[in-house]
Amino acid sequence: MKAQHVVVLVLHCATALTGAASPLLGQDADAWRVSFAAGEEARRSGDVTAYANEMAAAAGLLPAGHSNRPLVQYHAARAAAMAGQADAAVQWLRATWSEDIESLMISFAPLDPAFGPIVASPEFRSVVDLAGDLALTTRRLGGDVHLIVGAGSNVVVKISSDGVLMVDTGYGLALPALRRTVNDLGGGPIRTVIVTHPHEDHMGSVAELGADAEVYAHSGTAAAMAAPYVFMEGVSIPPKASTAMPDTEVDSDLSIDFGGESIRIVPTVAHTRGDLSVYFTESRVAHLGDAFLPSNPMMYPGTVDPDAFLDRLDAFLDSMHPETVVLGGHEDVTGLGAVRAQIRVTRAAMAFVRGSIDEGMSIQETAQVGQNRFPAQWTAFFYQLFTQPGR
Ligand SMILES: [Zn+2]
Repeated sequence: MKAQHVVVLVLHCATALTGAASPLLGQDADAWRVSFAAGEEARRSGDVTAYANEMAAAAGLLPAGHSNRPLVQYHAARAAAMAGQADAAVQWLRATWSEDIESLMISFAPLDPAFGPIVASPEFRSVVDLAGDLALTTRRLGGDVHLIVGAGSNVVVKISSDGVLMVDTGYGLALPALRRTVNDLGGGPIRTVIVTHPHEDHMGSVAELGADAEVYAHSGTAAAMAAPYVFMEGVSIPPKASTAMPDTEVDSDLSIDFGGESIRIVPTVAHTRGDLSVYFTESRVAHLGDAFLPSNPMMYPGTVDPDAFLDRLDAFLDSMHPETVVLGGHEDVTGLGAVRAQIRVTRAAMAFVRGSIDEGMSIQETAQVGQNRFPAQWTAFFYQLFTQPGR
């Protein structure tokens, strides 16, 4: 049994602010980056042998525990598969699985066309099947609502006599473990699945579960499901099967009754174009998806209308019981105070940046003056947003 010890939000979550290319744009100019850059160059030019060699070199150079290691190992695996090196591909996948961070990233492999030549081989299956033994942990949050940890994101289930309602599914390969865990909690059939946003670590099993369950998601999530999923540059996963598509698109506040409880589903679009947050009104549990990430210094309020996003979230929080248990899409359980604190810092940062723009300060001056209060990349983000042409 393998537990997911650490959730590092390498792929989709912590990087929302800086864009899809950011996981590999750190400060340290290590040797592995040179090989990685050469591997990316080879991938773009279609030289699969060089792609495989450079990515294997980069993965070999990365120290254990480095947050980029799973990503680079995954590249090494897919590159090897494309170059006809089946054994190496399976070895790199197994190495990715052995990492304690983002090991469920191997969920992309069965969907990634790069693995097409080996996807049916017993060696490939033997790695993918490792995820079936995943040991998930659970915690009761309130009423009959439980948190399941270890599937790649925070999965919340309501276990009722009407069956199970699930918020997010984690990665696809976690599904056997997820079903087992729901069973252990005494859950019956999974009847309803609410998807907080269209990232694979949150909706990996929605197509499988959606075959029997009613799916709720934002229209932005439906649109994303119908398009190829760009896992990382040059790595594109085919669209979701039709069973994943929402039976109900939630583009404005909706209350549903499930298991004797009224559950509110509220659009909180910011992190993606399809974010939903969910509030269990009796159990007093809120799942805010990746709209809220506890370890961030502030909220990412999106680029469309950040003030409206914060107002909307504030109003939603105000409607909740004061002792509501709050979850983001990842990390630990917290309370309303932690979310409100992030909103306060976000509003303060926005006001500070607007003031400095009014005073004619440059982006660098703004970052420097504000550096003791706000991380520079956040002030830079707001500065660029507020000085965009047409705003
Ligand atoms: Zn996430």
